[in-house]
Amino acid sequence: FDASQYAAELRSRWATEGGDASYALLTRAFVLANATTSRIKIVDTLVNFLRVLIEGDPSSVLPAVWLTTNSISPPYDELELGLGGSSISKALKKIYGLNSQGLKTLYDKHGDAGDVAFEAKKRQSFTLVKPKPLRIKGVYQSLQKVATSKGPGSQETKQRIVEKLLQDARGAEESRYIVRTLVQNLRIGAVKTTMLIALARAVLYSKPVGADFEVRPHQLARLKKDELAEIYNNAEEIVKASYARHPNYNDLVPCLLEIGPTEELLVRCGLTMHIPLRPMLGSITRDLSEMLTKLQGRDFSCEYKYDGQRAQVHCDEQWKVSIFSRHLELMTEKYPDLVSLVPQIRGEGVSSFILEGEVVAVDRETGDLKPFQVLTNRAKKNVELGDIKVNVCLFAFDLMYLNGEPLLDRPFRERRELLRSLFVEIPKHFGWVKSMDATSADSETVLEFFKSAIDVKCEGIMVKLLDNKPSANTQVNNNVRNETATTITEQPNQQVKPKEKATRRKPLLSTYEPDKRLESWLKVKKDYSTSSETLDLIPIAGWHGQGRKAKWWSPILLAVRNPETGILEAVTKCMSGFTDKFYQSNKEKYAHGSTNVISRPSYVEYPGEPDVWFEPCEVWEMAFADITLSPTYPAAIGLVSDERGLSLRFPRFIKVREDKSIDEATSSDYLALLWRKQMERTGEAGEAGEVG
Ligand code: ATP
Repeated sequence: FDASQYAAELRSRWATEGGDASYALLTRAFVLANATTSRIKIVDTLVNFLRVLIEGDPSSVLPAVWLTTNSISPPYDELELGLGGSSISKALKKIYGLNSQGLKTLYDKHGDAGDVAFEAKKRQSFTLVKPKPLRIKGVYQSLQKVATSKGPGSQETKQRIVEKLLQDARGAEESRYIVRTLVQNLRIGAVKTTMLIALARAVLYSKPVGADFEVRPHQLARLKKDELAEIYNNAEEIVKASYARHPNYNDLVPCLLEIGPTEELLVRCGLTMHIPLRPMLGSITRDLSEMLTKLQGRDFSCEYKYDGQRAQVHCDEQWKVSIFSRHLELMTEKYPDLVSLVPQIRGEGVSSFILEGEVVAVDRETGDLKPFQVLTNRAKKNVELGDIKVNVCLFAFDLMYLNGEPLLDRPFRERRELLRSLFVEIPKHFGWVKSMDATSADSETVLEFFKSAIDVKCEGIMVKLLDNKPSANTQVNNNVRNETATTITEQPNQQVKPKEKATRRKPLLSTYEPDKRLESWLKVKKDYSTSSETLDLIPIAGWHGQGRKAKWWSPILLAVRNPETGILEAVTKCMSGFTDKFYQSNKEKYAHGSTNVISRPSYVEYPGEPDVWFEPCEVWEMAFADITLSPTYPAAIGLVSDERGLSLRFPRFIKVREDKSIDEATSSDYLALLWRKQMERTGEAGEAGEVG
């Protein structure tokens, strides 16, 4: 792979084709990205592709970004393609002249709908009229038309658009990626972060960069490696920060193209009313004592960790209210009761705000908390105030925006003070999370508080740093921490030479950091005590069962997710914890010939050959005895050892995590972190008896 050769190829193709950038250019980028598992190469491919577009056809950049991220709009826009598998099959049959049996045979062989389209297109007898090349803009507009056509006749309209796209696809690869786009499974390992990095770098090459624009694009190549790395890093951080505050490419891309990755981007494309910011996340801790050690010398707030649904509430000067979920979906219609509370909770002097809290099902009479399952009984749409059966209370925990001003950079103590002094509690409907301020010296009271949280059926506690600086009267030596959770020097056993990302030491702040999982927010859950730790893994493959289980898939191969590369790294096989009924439904779900069974995917890492590969589409919560180093499984390889990955001993299925998408499955970094913690506890690098 040679990035500059690829860029040259793009330019020359374009020169011959003329007009707006063709879909063939994008397809070529997809093919290259698909051919590698190296994130560096994927980023390089995208950078080169985007550069060529920025320089030659900037109006195609935005549609290309949407197509590459396999979406058409931000999550809160609720635009969906709404195409069923049958619609794609119908189009494939019609355009490629297949009958049902022919299509089924191709599905059985390839699994993936895109691969079926590829084969079908290759076999198609030649067409008399060569279609005009598809353009990036045209394909994106077609998808938008599919998503926006509503009402009577819309299915036919959608079908026509799909068929036209397939008809106009020029080569087999174009057909493959059109279909993968339509089924929303592009499989090129370009996760959100990859795209943001690629955008930042591509723009650097076409815009002046540097704090005072001293560095011109053509000079980038002449910089020393570390100088270039710093410029890249600053640009990437700005673009990521902007996206975390304002996750909409429709705003980010044009602004970035205009002003480059400068601080100004955060002003023009930062926190905005009625656009959800990506939430700050909590880091896991094993238990209270680990939490107390981590926050030694600091003032912190312990809060009940309620078992409900996270909600971000936006309200503007005109009293318009929007409520967003943890995954940025609009759920204003789900909670009309919360919307109707806003005039009462908004105290004097508050004109606009963004606050965050946990919505919990409660008993209206007693105010007692009810389990999460009760909340799931509430409908998602068109909930009428008069029909509400599941009563809720919003327990607010943060204030991110007030009267036109973002508060993200203020210390948590100040944000909380503003929240609690300017808003009004309404018992059993709206209030503050129960909390207690403490320092590490207060271990007894913290323990009591933790127990009280468990008594009222909370999941545990969230512990949040209150200030940016250590407490005035405490001697501290750990007020400066790595951004990653554990430093390797803390590891007692050095038999395995760990490879750790170079991390910059940063002071631990109490600011609100959208989309980041830092140690200024720690979670202590009741079931973190060693063996009851669980992981959220993705089932990726299976083997034919033996004996009684011959009708089913058993064992099943599970993977963690590498957020850097988008690769799913196999971590364990599991054959325990499943009921026969579960085995049966799992076999039906991943039946041969179904779209859930695919050919060996390029984005999965596992050296063995399972009997069947699953389309990764769900997350399973798994228990296990401990984590072991493994010569077989590639999970987290390079993070704790260069040669070995990590695996689980005695893995046991607990439940399907209906509430999690595969993007939220346990990451390889997190697995590595748990392993290090286990090492700290036990002081040994076990490699014993992993199952499978
Ligand atoms: P994460 O949200 O961290 O990715 P997850 O979805 O598995 O992980 P948990 O690990 O259970 O969630 O914990 C984080 C969630 O806890 C928050 O997203 C929020 O919904 C909920 N929560 C409950 N009480 C609080 C609180 N006091 N402060 C912050 N979050 C809280």
